[in-house]
Amino acid sequence: MPDALPKTSMLALSRVHYPVSALGPGRRIGIWFQGCDRRCAGCISADTWAFAEPSLSLEDLMQALAPWLAACDGITITGGEPLAQFDALAALVHRLKAENPKSILLYTGQTYDAACPQLAALSPSIDAAVCGPYEAGLPQTLALRGSDNQTLHCLTPLGEREFASYERILQPEDKTLDVMLDDDGTAWLAGIPRRGDIHNLTRLLDARAGMNGIEKFSQRKGME
Ligand code: SF4
Repeated sequence: MPDALPKTSMLALSRVHYPVSALGPGRRIGIWFQGCDRRCAGCISADTWAFAEPSLSLEDLMQALAPWLAACDGITITGGEPLAQFDALAALVHRLKAENPKSILLYTGQTYDAACPQLAALSPSIDAAVCGPYEAGLPQTLALRGSDNQTLHCLTPLGEREFASYERILQPEDKTLDVMLDDDGTAWLAGIPRRGDIHNLTRLLDARAGMNGIEKFSQRKGME
């Protein structure tokens, strides 16, 4: 780890969860950053848009992740816009890499060209990145991506091994959504819904419960 990196940092997160299986290979830890000012039309994670005062220390986060780190196949960091908290993100990924050799996938709403300097500064801790904002008017045909403007970049040899195979058309067998249940009964989604998934889910819940089921959902995703 470079000497200049802070040993601790405060983060504003929306959620952490394990396991997540729809945002990269295997059973992954999902970390959702809070705050994004891009406001993409059709974003299903509007709950992560509001910026919040960073209130979680890196030490506390690492303690929370500790039981999952040995078991997980990798870590996916999304939001929100993780690069908007660059110093905290840098401290986090360097710490994760120092303690865990597994792959780290980052989602950012920035294009690759725009994100390049920050990705270079995070090297080699980020193994792969999906770059670009969600564009609801574009087709969605590519694995791990919500719209076809988004680009996948393998940034390390590990990233090449684990993510190069995702540079392909979305297959019917690709898992795109995890449905989670919190202790309080709240259901939420992690992943990248296919077009129409949310509409169909809402209709199903409406039909089953006679209520607006979408209000019962707190949704999280990779950049869909
Ligand atoms: S899709 Fe991603 S970049 Fe766009 S508003 Fe939602 S969280 Fe932000």
